[in-house]
Amino acid sequence: MKSIWNETTEIFPSEPLTRDITADVVVIGGGMAGILTAYYLQEQGVDVVVLEANCIGSGQTEDTTAKITSQHSLIYDRLIREWGEQKARQYAQANQEAVVAYANLVKKLGIDCEFQRKPAYLYTLSDSEVLEREAHAAKRLGIEAKVTTQTTLPFPVQGALMFPDQAMFHPLKFLTAVAERITIYAETKVEGVEKMSVFTGRHTVRAKHLIFASHYPFVNIPGFYFARMHQERSYVLALEQAGHLDGMYIGVDKDASWSMRNTGNLLLFGGGNHRTGENKSGGKYAELEKQARNFWPVSREVARWSAQDCITLDGIPYIGNFSKTRPDWYVATGFGKWGMSSSMVAARIISDAIVGQTNIYKEVFSPQRLWKWRTIQNFLKEGRYAAVGLTKGIFTEKIEDVKEHAGIGRGPRCAHMGCKLEWNPDEGIWECPCHGSRFQADGEIIDNPANQTLSDETSSL
Ligand SMILES: Cc1cc2nc3c(=O)[nH]c(=O)nc-3n(C[C@H](O)[C@H](O)[C@H](O)COP(=O)(O)OP(=O)(O)OC[C@H]3O[C@@H](n4cnc5c(N)ncnc54)[C@H](O)[C@@H]3O)c2cc1C
Repeated sequence: MKSIWNETTEIFPSEPLTRDITADVVVIGGGMAGILTAYYLQEQGVDVVVLEANCIGSGQTEDTTAKITSQHSLIYDRLIREWGEQKARQYAQANQEAVVAYANLVKKLGIDCEFQRKPAYLYTLSDSEVLEREAHAAKRLGIEAKVTTQTTLPFPVQGALMFPDQAMFHPLKFLTAVAERITIYAETKVEGVEKMSVFTGRHTVRAKHLIFASHYPFVNIPGFYFARMHQERSYVLALEQAGHLDGMYIGVDKDASWSMRNTGNLLLFGGGNHRTGENKSGGKYAELEKQARNFWPVSREVARWSAQDCITLDGIPYIGNFSKTRPDWYVATGFGKWGMSSSMVAARIISDAIVGQTNIYKEVFSPQRLWKWRTIQNFLKEGRYAAVGLTKGIFTEKIEDVKEHAGIGRGPRCAHMGCKLEWNPDEGIWECPCHGSRFQADGEIIDNPANQTLSDETSSL
């Protein structure tokens, strides 16, 4: 199921790596985070290469809804309470500046990517008090924010919180235009990393700095990111003859948190969020279809797709130094479904760190930041998920059941750490509820942190 971005972009072909090379910096992953980081490094004269397992943008970036905004659902009131005003301001300003940085880059490079400034709205059908609190918090942090009841949505709301002057674009048109300026080796999957050497199976890249922009880092130790994140998936319909909205919308109510934005004559209508690996009964697209018929009775679906993103323990991305024991490794992950602005934030923080420039926003995103009470609670929750996933079905699993679905021999267990995989009928895909790795029905790897296809050896404990 291809996104409309995919259907409307020609990705230029990059050659695979065919020899051993050296570089100042090697970036693993050619999604929005990897390409932007490589761009800013190259702009400052750094010798940088990107290694991409497939082609650029082929990860979550091709399936995003591509809103560029500092409005990351309800976050600022919580950030102030949990982290204090200074760190909350770092988060807010870094993301506000990211919107401006996109606008500047589009202009500077003359990129034709349907970039438009639009307001971003959070809406609620129930209690607008949370929006009032969020507006108050946002204003304290320097963001213009206004609560209204007037929207262009096809249903009445109790309130909508508007941030003006945010943006949206065609992510792949933007990405390809930036990527044309960078040295990229496509179809070059990184199989392993050791100190400052990166192995692709056939060849080695030696570098002074290494950046994990692979969406979810596939190295378990050091860093322990597998214990510090899970993934969540949601679904999108592209509709013809649906509404025309004045901006980008997303709901904050649990059972009405639809995401909406226009692109050309289409409306992107998203929802159906779940932890990856927890959609056994399916029905996510059907539910969206039902709601679409309800809101726009004459609308017609032209495309559907889904995507997932990493959620950190405290809801703030991990951007910066990968681990204390690896001072020259960097990471950009855990964007919590706000990876357009977060990729730009990551690109600025990591490129500044590598060229030795001060970045006043880096502290709040540091992967080595202190743990708050929420962090500890979620860490224990992730541990429980892993324990259940690892032990589930080991005594009862019937090999026949497994073969019926996957034809992969000794059991649908994840190639990452051996958790029991679950079938997602909406996608026809195996998913890991522990860390969110995904595999085709025949066991081929799709999404990290697993970095290899299922086999008899890797699919059983
Ligand atoms: C339904 C949905 C809607 C969203 N909408 C928005 C939105 O409107 N606005 C917003 O800000 N965010 C949104 N997001 C989030 C955003 O799309 C992501 O955060 C962002 O695309 C992540 O970019 P990335 O570069 O980190 O990862 P990716 O785009 O996944 O890039 C990682 C790349 O690394 C490559 N890779 C992986 N392993 C290896 C390896 N071993 N060797 C070499 N290469 C490797 C992959 O092939 C991939 O190309 C949305 C997310 C979802 C799920």
